[in-house]
Amino acid sequence: MAELATPDSSALGEAKALLKTLHAREGRPVTLMEVCGTHTMAVARAGLRAVMPERVRLVSGPGCPVCVTPVGYIDHALALAARPEVIIATFGDLLRVPGSMRQRGPGASAPSLERVRATGADVRIVYSPFEALHVARDNAARQVVFLGVGFETTTPPVAAAMLTAHEQGLKNLSVLGAHKTIPEAMQLLASGDQIGLDGFLCPGHVSIIIGPEAYQPLAERHRLACAIAGFEPIEILRGLLSLIEQIDTDQPRIDNCYPGAVRAGGNRKARELMYRVFEPCDANWRGFGVIPHSGLSIRSELATLDAASRFDVALPPPVEPAGCRCGEVLQGVIVPAECPLFGDACTPDNPHGACMVSSEGSCAAHFHYGTAKEQADG
Ligand code: SF4
Repeated sequence: MAELATPDSSALGEAKALLKTLHAREGRPVTLMEVCGTHTMAVARAGLRAVMPERVRLVSGPGCPVCVTPVGYIDHALALAARPEVIIATFGDLLRVPGSMRQRGPGASAPSLERVRATGADVRIVYSPFEALHVARDNAARQVVFLGVGFETTTPPVAAAMLTAHEQGLKNLSVLGAHKTIPEAMQLLASGDQIGLDGFLCPGHVSIIIGPEAYQPLAERHRLACAIAGFEPIEILRGLLSLIEQIDTDQPRIDNCYPGAVRAGGNRKARELMYRVFEPCDANWRGFGVIPHSGLSIRSELATLDAASRFDVALPPPVEPAGCRCGEVLQGVIVPAECPLFGDACTPDNPHGACMVSSEGSCAAHFHYGTAKEQADG
């Protein structure tokens, strides 16, 4: 058994005990998917794949919000950034995601917010949506567009900032929204049988908001094991052991292995706040296409805060990065090392697709922490 990379010796002891139990269990081969960018990074950083029993295949799913944001959204943000009156306010992860590449030939490269910033566009990194509000207050003669990308954890603070802007009559802030909800994507994965999925390691942060009940259809209708886990290697191992036990005993359920943070019912107030501003809509996911009811659009009462309504932008059809297999990576169909561009034409310094850009992207995680065993598996 390979060594587990964790710096805490007491945690290491417990981790070894959990691994011993995992390895001692006998049963059929299983495929488990984590659906959270933070899990993706934590699993890779701790080298958990390399210490799994042979029968356990651990794949990453669509848990990185930047990665699942389609190229058309980046094109839209780039078109807005080109307007002289606009200041783009964004989290840093979106900065280097490539938009549609329309030029061909030697030296051609895809545009990104980072590239247009270098040529004069006003693109600013913010660390919270409220910072975008401050930028708007400080630049009354300009239009500030906040790029709203994220799952249920990110959306309530965006909603709070938007309500504040609305209450204060701030006229120069809007949001280009691409907010998404994760259970619908999980149900889509559960409905197809492309990878022979047996269980989900459910996202810790998102579950704090939506509560364990949100995964009920996965366990009841699709008979998939579900375990909500925290982000320390030991917490992830507890979740994985729960999944294996559920599968081996054929008793799928939702096991909350993160009870210190995730409560029954989730965070009702955060959801109320979210739904005061947003309403469910169909949403386009990179690699999946449109998933019904998996998005959150800004309510018509708050349309003045919607950058998509405020600015008239004509966009040509989006063009996916040539050769990029992010879509298959995000569905767990391939591991990043199976993409021919991985580590060669596509690296964190020269990302070809979104999964290599984001700090939570599968390709970036595999590039930084991938093991020889994983690459061989690929
Ligand atoms: Fe896309 Fe790069 Fe990942 Fe290949 S390695 S799937 S090109 S991001």
